[in-house]
Amino acid sequence: MFENKNRRTELSELGEFGLIDQLTKKIKLKNKSSIKGVGDDAAVIYYGTKQTLVTTDLLVEGVPFDMTYTPLKHLGYKAAIVNFSDIIAMNGIPKQLIIGIAASNRYSVEALEELYAGIYLACDKYGVDLVGGDTTSSVSGLFISITVTGEADKNEITYRDTAKNGNLICVSGDLGGAYMGLLLLEREKKVFKADKNMQPDLGGYDYILARQLKPEARIDVINHLKDIKIKPTAMIDISDGLASEILHICTCSKLGCNLYEEKIPIDVTTINIAEEFKIDPTVCALSGGEDYELLFTIEPDYFDKIKDIDGISVIGHLTAENEGVNLISRSGTSIPITAQGWDALLKKDNGKKS
Ligand code: ADP
Ligand code: MG
Repeated sequence: MFENKNRRTELSELGEFGLIDQLTKKIKLKNKSSIKGVGDDAAVIYYGTKQTLVTTDLLVEGVPFDMTYTPLKHLGYKAAIVNFSDIIAMNGIPKQLIIGIAASNRYSVEALEELYAGIYLACDKYGVDLVGGDTTSSVSGLFISITVTGEADKNEITYRDTAKNGNLICVSGDLGGAYMGLLLLEREKKVFKADKNMQPDLGGYDYILARQLKPEARIDVINHLKDIKIKPTAMIDISDGLASEILHICTCSKLGCNLYEEKIPIDVTTINIAEEFKIDPTVCALSGGEDYELLFTIEPDYFDKIKDIDGISVIGHLTAENEGVNLISRSGTSIPITAQGWDALLKKDNGKKS
């Protein structure tokens, strides 16, 4: 499962420095801001007049990733992407990546090379340099810590607490797919555990599996918004589900909102499999998470500019704080979006979050 090559080189054969060299020897720095990468006590980066964005993410085997259905290359790719997405959600451009790994002897050199192949793939696609890291052993399992730095002009940065009453709420792409992909993988894992001869039946679900295993960060969206001269008043990436993210924007900005259920973009594959699992697709979008789409707010004057853009949906508007954070259902009822409210709705709809 861990390696697609037959060779297995023990970590102890290479030793720490040999391993670092093996994993980093092909690096060619792409960015002018990456002054010094791997090979000294610290990396050197220089953004001139720009501001520096920094974000970090720690992955621990078992929480949240499950090695039984996460190929290491996908894991590396996703681990990089989720950090890029955080920089992009600040309206910044990711530039450098630093990785810390702790691996047990269950992992071979080839396995870590697979992990790095995924990280390098993401770095190449998004123009990011791997400029450093740290390597140690672990008594059990794999730990991956990734830090990404990025740059933005001071007046381009988008915070969570700067949305204004009356702003439109927009979302990129479609929601809920990554969560359905996860449920599908978990279902097939159970089938596989019960009968080792059963091959997973994942045909026809490519889209949601890719949403779970190989997400993308929406740098194309922030670039497009810059091209058409729209600066979001606030922005956040959707890592924990639409409900949680809109609550963050509303709480930070001291506002309320109305989100319209019928406007929430959900792919037909997601709807179909949600029905198969007897879960309301809206619940998937609101509570699912890991879609890494962007949720942002804009001045209402931009409605005409934004309404016809493919892949961006206007799903509601901000209101005064005392009006609350609400979902307006298809039938027109207003349902408060709170953590608890959602638990209640999850029960009502028989939707389960694992
Ligand atoms: P130090 O003893 O100063 O921590 P290391 O020997 O750990 O130095 O690291 C040497 C160089 O290799 C540094 O530039 C460091 O950033 C880089 N490095 C260490 N581990 C990794 C790794 N797993 N991936 C990429 N670069 C690494
Ligand atoms: Mg070190």
